[in-house]
Amino acid sequence: MSGINDALRAAADQFGTPLYVYDAATISGQYAKLKQAFSGHPTRFFYACKALSNVAILRHIQALGSGLDCVSINEVRLGLHAGFEPQNILFTPNSVTFEELVAAKELGVNLNIDNISLLERFGARFGASYPVCVRLNPHIEAGGNYKIQTGHIDSKFGISIHQLRHLERVVKGTGLHVRGLHMHTGSEIKDVGVFMRALEILFDAAGRFPDLDFLDLGSGFKVPYKPGDAETDLTTLGQQVAAAFQGFEREYGRPLECWFEPGKYLVSESGYLLVHVAVVKQTTATVFAGVNSGFNHLIRPMFYDSYHHISNLTNPQGAERLYTVVGNICETDTFAWDRLLPEIRENDLLAFHNAGAYGFEMSSSFNSRPRPAEVLLEAGQLRLIRRRQTFEDLLAGQIDAVEVLS
Ligand SMILES: *Cc1c(COP(=O)(O)O)cnc(C)c1O
Repeated sequence: MSGINDALRAAADQFGTPLYVYDAATISGQYAKLKQAFSGHPTRFFYACKALSNVAILRHIQALGSGLDCVSINEVRLGLHAGFEPQNILFTPNSVTFEELVAAKELGVNLNIDNISLLERFGARFGASYPVCVRLNPHIEAGGNYKIQTGHIDSKFGISIHQLRHLERVVKGTGLHVRGLHMHTGSEIKDVGVFMRALEILFDAAGRFPDLDFLDLGSGFKVPYKPGDAETDLTTLGQQVAAAFQGFEREYGRPLECWFEPGKYLVSESGYLLVHVAVVKQTTATVFAGVNSGFNHLIRPMFYDSYHHISNLTNPQGAERLYTVVGNICETDTFAWDRLLPEIRENDLLAFHNAGAYGFEMSSSFNSRPRPAEVLLEAGQLRLIRRRQTFEDLLAGQIDAVEVLS
């Protein structure tokens, strides 16, 4: 197959739409860029699988040598199922019960604890026998959108850096072994300086914990969505991080690994949501292109006001006109407002770009419309990695009194 557009058209022909397609080569390329950028210091990557957790994707990323960051016990189970070793899994939950934390401990994965009361209970029960990482909140405001900022003063995440003394007391009192400190300030952070400020704060805090093996800077690398969009300058960040670690290690007295948990960076650009145009509707003011999908399949435009590039794969050379591209959900359901696109006709095939991260993963069957199928493009081959939901799937699990009685 020549070129991604041919592959996407072939996928739509073979599997129908709406359809998610992921290009494995793009994921490999992003991972290689990360490794290269941070080659100046021992660094480990844990793919944040809440971005896209299909097991075929997890296996692909595991084969690249990455670890896995999980935010729920089921993500941990998916990771183990996909072949990740427990020591290559990091569990970074928030607002979870002690029982869920212990369940993850029983599975042998790295724990990242973000709450003093949980830490106290964990320390009282396990002491130094199970080293942990602690999630701090640096109170840095950063990120592309308020909903994806996690480091600010009102955020629920992490243990405030103003509570370090309290944290230290709990650690001393319970004999906990803290082997890592973690911070994740948000998503879509393009400014290298934000990461460096977070690192300085981690260095400051590290002085209180003598047995550290690593410092974890979380993630939030920005990827381009619009043509010409800025992205995080990872080469510069890698150089600055390496230099900063070298300086700090001399002071700290032992080597420290740097950990990251990239989600979006690895999978965003690999993914496309393919849809067909059901109707073209000219109203008094607007030309709508209504497609056979909606925010039930790709919620980011409605939820985060995000921009997704759209291409018309059926009519790429058409004369450009302005369209508002909408879905079929019975609510305002807009993918793009007043977008200049090659002329759209009914039944044309459109592709939403950058749909790999938080696309399928945040989908639902709202309006009783089944979730799409997923396909992986690997070495020129298209492989179905999740079948399309069916009407029977919508009924599965429901308890229907009529059937119970009969
Ligand atoms: C969501 C999340 C990530 C990944 O963020 P991206 O912006 O997708 O790279 C990393 N770490 C933690 C703890 C997260 O919650």
